[in-house]
Amino acid sequence: MASLQSLRGMVDLLPEQIGLWQHVEATAREQFRRAGIAEIRTPLLEVTELFARGIGEATDVVGKEMYTFLDRGERSCTLRPEGTASVVRAAIQHGLLSQGPQRLWYGGPMFRYERPQAGRQRQFHQIGLELLGFADACSDAEAIAVAWDLLAALGVGGLALELNSLGSAEDRARYRELLVAWLEQRRELLDADSQARIHSNPLRVLDSKHPGTQALLAEAPSLASALSDDSQARFAAVQQALAALGIPFVLNPRLVRGLDYYSHTAFEITSGQLGAQATVCGGGRYDGLVQQLGGPATPAIGWALGMERLVLLLSQLERPLAAAPALDLYVVSRGEAAATQALALARLCRQAGLAVERDASGAAFGKQFKRADRSGARWAAVIGEQEAVDGLVGLKDLRAAASGQEGAQPDQRLSPAALLQALQAALKRP
Ligand code: ATP
Ligand code: MG
Repeated sequence: MASLQSLRGMVDLLPEQIGLWQHVEATAREQFRRAGIAEIRTPLLEVTELFARGIGEATDVVGKEMYTFLDRGERSCTLRPEGTASVVRAAIQHGLLSQGPQRLWYGGPMFRYERPQAGRQRQFHQIGLELLGFADACSDAEAIAVAWDLLAALGVGGLALELNSLGSAEDRARYRELLVAWLEQRRELLDADSQARIHSNPLRVLDSKHPGTQALLAEAPSLASALSDDSQARFAAVQQALAALGIPFVLNPRLVRGLDYYSHTAFEITSGQLGAQATVCGGGRYDGLVQQLGGPATPAIGWALGMERLVLLLSQLERPLAAAPALDLYVVSRGEAAATQALALARLCRQAGLAVERDASGAAFGKQFKRADRSGARWAAVIGEQEAVDGLVGLKDLRAAASGQEGAQPDQRLSPAALLQALQAALKRP
């Protein structure tokens, strides 16, 4: 019978990769702690309407990328394609916004039915930040700084911060008219995707990847010129704050985000080392979303970072990151009575905080010792038939063994409690 495979675009993370993921997660957790940002966890499954209303019907995500199905109660459900709509829903549902501004982060899997390729999957992972109830330009810079510093703490180099302002909803409505008229006059020259978007999502045409369309757009009316004085002043203040923090950025007037809820600041952090999927982190201000989802008018800014792309970058670093967690003790035993005592010893040491692996093979001692060496453990505990009778454990320092003292003979025989004490004492003075 053919063996079963994972679904296309759904990827397993194997133990050898997990060290890097945990390192990223721990670093992110620490950066969020330092910035006074609390974690929130929301369900993977939501009512479809949340995303249709939140992200926008005309977006790629809602239009063609969502995993949507009817549950057994005939409700339309969707696996979350992003985190912001869910976080905002939860904040409204639980009245968090009446308790003051919220500084929240989330992490976990997202689902989009896209064509899988390097850095693009159907189940992928994001870490995201949402600052709800923050209006000032410094908050935009603060949100960006948290992302920038997280990437710096991980040692990722060669990143660029691209920045744009999408203006207010009124600015965009005005610009939209200008742009639609301009695109209409050049309909024949556009690629098919862009033609289809002229009326449904004209701003999205601006970041078309099609070379012909790109060249044509050089002449298009710019969003920057359609911004009101207030919007321009706001954008200048964000740039000043970033400059004051020493965070370099480049203005990209073509940068529009794929989701409908953004206004004013929009940004992406990109890397030249990721091929076509260059964006590691994307975000911006979404002052209209909370109200649009039924909450009180609340200014907000946030971002989401793609874990797969970040891990891809980190795995290209020369410096190896985050080796597998080191074992303290490897327990080898032979015979039934000895196996039970080995298990009891492993448990005793684990309860005291040591990392312990027990060899369950019952193989010859020589083989078990080879595995003990390969395990990277600092010590081996040996329980043979005689030790089992005496209630003792042989202790062997594998580092000393590696430095020349060959052989499987234990260095000393101790009771389990004395062995634990000896290891704890040795671990205190490394
Ligand atoms: P893209 O233009 O690459 O499709 P996007 O604008 O759809 O990105 P967002 O919705 O802003 O992306 O998500 C934020 C980040 O999540 C992206 O910058 C990227 O790093 C990551 N991301 C988005 N979609 C995927 C995916 N299908 N697979 C892996 N990572 C993804
Ligand atoms: Mg996308």
